[in-house]
Amino acid sequence: MSVQTANESKTILIAEMFETVQGEGKWVGTPAFFIRTGMCNLACIWCDTPYTWKEGETTYEKKTHEEVFQRVEKSPIQHIVVTGGEPMLHQEFILALRKRNPHRFIEVETNGTIPSTLPPGTVNQFNISPKLSNSGNSWYKLNLRVYNSIFKFVVQSPDDIIEIENFTEQNNIDRTKIFLMPEGTTRDILLSRAKWLIPLCREKKFHYSPRLHIMKNIR
Ligand code: SF4
Repeated sequence: MSVQTANESKTILIAEMFETVQGEGKWVGTPAFFIRTGMCNLACIWCDTPYTWKEGETTYEKKTHEEVFQRVEKSPIQHIVVTGGEPMLHQEFILALRKRNPHRFIEVETNGTIPSTLPPGTVNQFNISPKLSNSGNSWYKLNLRVYNSIFKFVVQSPDDIIEIENFTEQNNIDRTKIFLMPEGTTRDILLSRAKWLIPLCREKKFHYSPRLHIMKNIR
């Protein structure tokens, strides 16, 4: 009778895994191994990964932790980005990923709605993207408060800055941790929004973040 180890029997929903460079935020341009998990607890109207959660569009597959770890270990890239969907729905997997990869850098992309039960040091950096009213979700409380986080906002119009400033003040967040990114699924839309968003970042002392994966339409 074969004996299964814990990692061989535990499973996770995976939409895709691929190597690219980080397209957004503080580590933009860094070669990265992406693990995109399935399922989300929000439903943003402009979501660019509906195949991770939207009924009738999902492409995720159940994989064992071991299958994912073996794919990670085949890559020479030491920087891992766990994204979704909402990866904080899969915290047991994130913890196991860390245990298996004690020396790789792990970023987690999250909407900030789910508190972390992960021990300190599990994740090197959380990229929290609170969703503004332009997402179609009702406003929610930030439930993930950790020291090693930056905050990314998808901005559709200059008026969004009011909500972002309110959020920053209510949650007492240092402005140097805030990154603003234009909303859009084409290069032309991103460029047209960058024209007013970059000066706005300069004025408000927020970071501007490109979205390389959309600008270049690459992986
Ligand atoms: S939180 Fe992210 S994955 Fe979930 S619906 Fe919104 S944009 Fe899509």
